[in-house]
This record gives sequence, structure tokens and C-alpha cells, in this order.
Amino acid sequence: MKKILVTGGAGFVGSHLCERLLKEGNEVICLDNFFTGSKKNVVHLLDNPYFELVRHDVTMPYFVEVDHIYNLACPASPIHYQYNPIKTIKTSVMGAINMLGLAKRINAKILQASTSEVYGDPNVHPQTESYWGNVNTWGPRSCYDEGKRSAETLFMDYNIQNKVDIKVIRIFNTYGPRMHPNDGRVVSNFIVQALQNKDITIYGDGQQTRSFQYVDDLLEGMIRMVNSRDGFTGPVNIGNPNEFTILELAEKVIEMTGSKSKIIFLPPSKDDPTRRQPDISLAKKELDWSPKIQLNEGLVKTIDFFREIV
Ligand code: NAD
Ligand code: UDP
Repeated sequence: MKKILVTGGAGFVGSHLCERLLKEGNEVICLDNFFTGSKKNVVHLLDNPYFELVRHDVTMPYFVEVDHIYNLACPASPIHYQYNPIKTIKTSVMGAINMLGLAKRINAKILQASTSEVYGDPNVHPQTESYWGNVNTWGPRSCYDEGKRSAETLFMDYNIQNKVDIKVIRIFNTYGPRMHPNDGRVVSNFIVQALQNKDITIYGDGQQTRSFQYVDDLLEGMIRMVNSRDGFTGPVNIGNPNEFTILELAEKVIEMTGSKSKIIFLPPSKDDPTRRQPDISLAKKELDWSPKIQLNEGLVKTIDFFREIV
């Protein structure tokens, strides 16, 4: 049994992670400021004596004795991270400093939830970890992208300078039950719109691509990364390499929900990456990991979840 701190544990990914770590027999402290996450996501865990929920903001120091830290605290959807950009970058940078400081002090292993956004609008396709990215320093996505890039720098420097045991993963678009219905991400938006027979809103011409990963595959990748060989720090891509255009996703969602929705095309979002697909050779080699759940199967589970709440 390990004692594990999950920051951002009441969010979409974090709540699934807390659940899984508890199931595997660990003690879990879930820390969250409830900006985009909610108690509802973890309420079913509150009866478990090995689960503890703490309201705290990672921009402030926090002290606890644990074996592992999963640092997930950060709003992930563009509308949420752009709501208060200064707070977003503070969360990534000060959150990383506070959690790395804690890891150093208590000698804990720490995983950082980085992102495919560090590649920006990539000139290399598919994206390998050795690609440095193409990111705007002051566009609407910069508070998130540059915050996560700075956090990666901090993680590597704490490892080199202070020997902190770090693990960095770059997560590609992930979906599944418990996504916030209004968080504006494409999978939740399209499913909610389709279930309500409302117009499906494509930003731009729909030819931009994303590679969608089901949340359970991500959890497996995260846990394998924390348990990977000593000295392997990453960064490592964790994503599903099957790439779809946004138009293909819209058509698929309409078909799978039996919706009467029409597709409409709205102006493109500024700095929207045109292509995104992970090269997962490193994850295969180091973690013996590859995603198991393909889009159709994952969408069925996600549509079922949204049918319940919409
Ligand atoms: P989410 O918004 O559902 O979860 C983030 C959680 O962090 C929320 O519970 C929120 O309340 C909490 N939080 C935000 N700021 C905080 C702060 N200052 N202090 C404490 N808690 C704070 O998003 P998610 O999809 O679950 O993403 C989890 C992590 O994975 C994020 O770090 C995100 O950047 C990363 N990630 C996610 C994806 C994806 O597609 N879901 C892709 C790449 C990276
Ligand atoms: N998108 C869209 N309609 C929506 C929401 C998103 O066309 O209602 C597009 C968005 O412009 C982007 C892609 O879907 O090209 C993925 O967007 P999301 O916000 O889910 O993730 P990210 O851009 O961070 O990868």
C-alpha cells in the first residue's frame, strides 16, 4: 500500500485516477480547489477510509507525507483555461514549484501531467518527444501551453539539480465519462449537442485532426510510468495514434447517437493546431504500453454517461 497525493483529483481524469489507485489498495489524498472539478466526481469515494478530500490551491504550498504525487491540477479545456489566463499559468508554474518542493523534501516520486499542447501547432507529424514544438508565446492558448512547458523545465531541473524522482507524460486529447458537459471540449460538446438534437458546432472547416484517447488507457499509461525503471524520466507521449478529422468525429457522433442534429461551420479558433497525432514508440518500448480502447468503443461508454446527465 502506497500513500498517494493526487492534485486536481476532483477533475475528469483525476477522479478516475483516485478511484483506480484506491481499487489497487492505496491510500489516496485528493487535493483540489474545485475550479473545474467538483465534489460530485469523488462523492462516491468519501465513505472509503483510505480516501481523503482536501480543498486547497496548488499555487500555495502544501505539506503532507506521501510516497507518490500525481500533479494534475490545472484546468484543461480551452474555455476554462482562458477564463483567467494569469491564474492558469500560475497554477502550472507555482503548482509545479510547490509540488516539486514537497517531493524533494519528503523524497517522493512525482508525475507531471504535461500535454501534447507543448508541441503547439506542430511542424513534425506525428509528434515525437524529441520535437521541440511550435508554440505562440502570447496567443490565447499560451497561458496553458507555456505554463505546461515551464512546468516541464522545472521538473527536469529539479531532477538534474536536486535528484527529485520525476516522471513526465505528455497526454494527448482524452475523453470519457465525467467530462464536464459544458467544458467546451470537442467530444463532450458534440455528444451533448447530438443528444439534444442541436447543431453540431465545427470551428473552421473540420479538417483539423486530433487523436482521441479513452481515459482508462491514459490511467494505465500513468501508472506504468510511475512504476517505470529508475532513471527513466520521460517526457513520454501517452495518447492513441488513431487520428480523425473533427468533421469525421462529428459524423460519427451523429450516427452513434441517432441524432437529428445538423453540422454547422463556425469561424476557426485562433492558434488552433491543425494536426495532432502521437508517436508512441517510446511508451511502447519503456512502458510496454499502447492504448486498447478505440474510438467507437470509448464513444459508446461516453455517450451512455451523457445520456444519464443531459
Ligand atoms: P479537469 O479540468 O477536469 O481537471 C483539473 C482539476 O484541477 C480540476 O479538478 C480543477 O478543479 C483542479 N484545479 C485547477 N486549478 C487548480 C489549482 N490552482 N489548485 C488545485 N486544483 C486545481 O481536466 P482533466 O481533463 O481532468 O485534466 C487533468 C490534467 O491532465 C491537467 O493537468 C491537464 O492539463 C492534463 N491533460 C489533460 C488532457 C485531456 O485531454 N483531458 C490532455 C492533456 C493534458
Ligand atoms: N472544436 C470544434 N467544435 C467544438 C469544440 C471544439 O470544432 O464545439 C474543435 C477545436 O477547434 C479543435 C478540436 O475540436 O480543433 C479539439 O478541441 P478541444 O477543445 O477538444 O481540444 P484541443 O484544441 O485542446 O486539442
